[in-house]
Amino acid sequence: MILEKKKSTCSYCGVGCGVLISKDKKGKIKVEGDPEHPVNKGMLCSKGMNLHYVVEDKSDRLLYPQMRWGKGHALEKVEWDTALTRAAAVFKSMIEKFGSDAVGYYVSGQCLTEEYYLVNKLTKGYLKTNNIDTNSRLCMSSAVMGYVQTLGEDAVPVAYEDIELADCFLVAGANPAWCHPIIWRRVEMQKERNPETKIIVVDPRKTQTCALADLHLQILPGTDTVLFQAIGRCLIEGGNIDWSFIKNHTDGFEAYQEQVMQVSVADAAQMCGVPEDQIVQAATYIAGSKGFLSMWAMGLNQSADGVNKNLSLIDINLITGHIGKPGSGPFSLTGQPNAMGGREVGGMSTLLSSHRKLHDAAHRKEVADFWGVEDLPSKPGLTATQMVEALEEGTMKAIWIICTNPMISLPDARRVENALKKAKFVVVQDISLHAATIPFADLVLPAAGWAEKEGTMTNSERRISYLHKSVAPPGEAIPDAEIIIRFAKKMGFSGFDYKDMGSVFQEHAALTKGTNIDISELDYEYLKSHGTAQWPFVSSAQSGKARLFEDRIFYTPNGRAQIKISGPQSDLEALTPDFPLILTTGRIRDQWHTMTRTGKVNKLKKHVPIPLLEIHPEDAISRKIGDGDTVEIKSRRGTVRVRAQVSESIREGVVFLPMHWGKILGADFAMVNNLTGNAIDPVSKQPDFKYSAVEVMKYTKP
Ligand code: SF4
Repeated sequence: MILEKKKSTCSYCGVGCGVLISKDKKGKIKVEGDPEHPVNKGMLCSKGMNLHYVVEDKSDRLLYPQMRWGKGHALEKVEWDTALTRAAAVFKSMIEKFGSDAVGYYVSGQCLTEEYYLVNKLTKGYLKTNNIDTNSRLCMSSAVMGYVQTLGEDAVPVAYEDIELADCFLVAGANPAWCHPIIWRRVEMQKERNPETKIIVVDPRKTQTCALADLHLQILPGTDTVLFQAIGRCLIEGGNIDWSFIKNHTDGFEAYQEQVMQVSVADAAQMCGVPEDQIVQAATYIAGSKGFLSMWAMGLNQSADGVNKNLSLIDINLITGHIGKPGSGPFSLTGQPNAMGGREVGGMSTLLSSHRKLHDAAHRKEVADFWGVEDLPSKPGLTATQMVEALEEGTMKAIWIICTNPMISLPDARRVENALKKAKFVVVQDISLHAATIPFADLVLPAAGWAEKEGTMTNSERRISYLHKSVAPPGEAIPDAEIIIRFAKKMGFSGFDYKDMGSVFQEHAALTKGTNIDISELDYEYLKSHGTAQWPFVSSAQSGKARLFEDRIFYTPNGRAQIKISGPQSDLEALTPDFPLILTTGRIRDQWHTMTRTGKVNKLKKHVPIPLLEIHPEDAISRKIGDGDTVEIKSRRGTVRVRAQVSESIREGVVFLPMHWGKILGADFAMVNNLTGNAIDPVSKQPDFKYSAVEVMKYTKP
């Protein structure tokens, strides 16, 4: 017999599918797609369908706080009070001796919005440092800067309902068939409804997404900006741009035109390694469309040239006027379930609450007054990779890591390891005792996981969803929000008396009043009963605003969208005879991040049981590598050893390795970030995971 079904949201990707959680009388958990949810209408992908295993299996969970009484000592079980008293004593001492910037938080796009809000308030308002960054820095920060520079705000202008209104999709640096499956299912259904719908895929790999493509531009990694500008040039030369929109609602077209005319389409084709007629064809498809959606993800964002790639793609929507109208717009596909919610509360080292600007003294005062604190620090905090540097150099002493596993996920793993070893004090707040960062922790705090706590998250289309608590956390684990509040009180801070999670949400919502992301009229109880709402939300439009800029007024100071030229291209890591191949990394269908959850579900492991290096037959033959051989991949940073998958799906000269595997499965040699480097985008500070120079050799046991 099934008891009451509770509404929640899948905690994996940024699609944000609605689920119903129920328990039978024996306590067995069932998770199914919510047929009433506007995102997935009852559908779930393989990861979502197996969420209940993760909730049921507590065998790998952290059950109580653990502490080392000194470096080199073993972790020992302690009481919560002892753990948090020690944390407060260390943080106070570090701040007193070395200043507020000696401490910091590294959090996650998987935290709930309320948790993000609290830790941001604690760090900026009370610890007086902007040293709070998140793994969303690895995921979205280039897209954020692309939107801010062109539209004036970190605001995805489209909604999923635009998928059903589009007749041309340009999918770049993304494999939604595997990584955003429910969005892709909606695109598939649109193509089924209207077979004339055109799908253009831009990717160095022939991914599963290409199965639906009318055109696949298999470009050389790193050349996306050149390609998008060449498409722009074709559109201009063909007279297929929206002059009226450009004239009345944008700035910057002349400079853009001048830049794109500097490279001929033939030269661009040569640089990108694609046939010229494919570039012309892509422009022809876009020109013939009524609704044009550009979609992208990590292939553009995780790049030392990530902001340029974003700008040049958004420019295509702007010059054709494909924005603010049905089925049209530039649509960044968020990786994590609450990357957007985290940015709403300002949970990054370069942001303030409600998308206010850190560099603006008036904005800092607004937030400080709201929180009842004297002021906020004006100096931007350290970003994810800057924290690694600062720990290595010793200028940052203590780091508190919440709900993320940087030992596997940050680039250049040996450097991360060195930084964590050098840190004076590391706190890891997590659910899994297998998290590879735990061996470096001085204090380990057990957190409640998905379905064990309540709160909200925001998905890729600005949709805020409520997540019910459905089961009790195991052992002494408690929700992240409660840990943050208890620590703040141990520090003696007064602004952390909350009745419940609803009061945290309402405080955050009140702080958005008057901003572009205003949800001040959105009531927590409304969310609980209705399940979702999009921002901005005003009471007269009960479900929030689906599509932005229908009035053609943008969030820039003059209300006009900015068509941007691209800045100087960042240097790519040199390919040399020792390191002649380009390594690109990414996700596989059934695994999530560092596998601390999906890695324990047998059904999911069956899909791709071991990490495989995709390598083109020509590259394999010249190295005497056969399909299934063990190979060693070397970069200037380190070595990885995995099996080879010889495949024509990847471009010659490029190899692909999944990002998920690490120490958790005893496969140290499979950790892809042993190979990646320290290149970051100069504007967004997002690390590059898509271009590392490597060599691959057949491995024979010594
Ligand atoms: Fe979860 Fe994303 Fe799959 Fe939806 S598409 S079920 S949000 S992993």
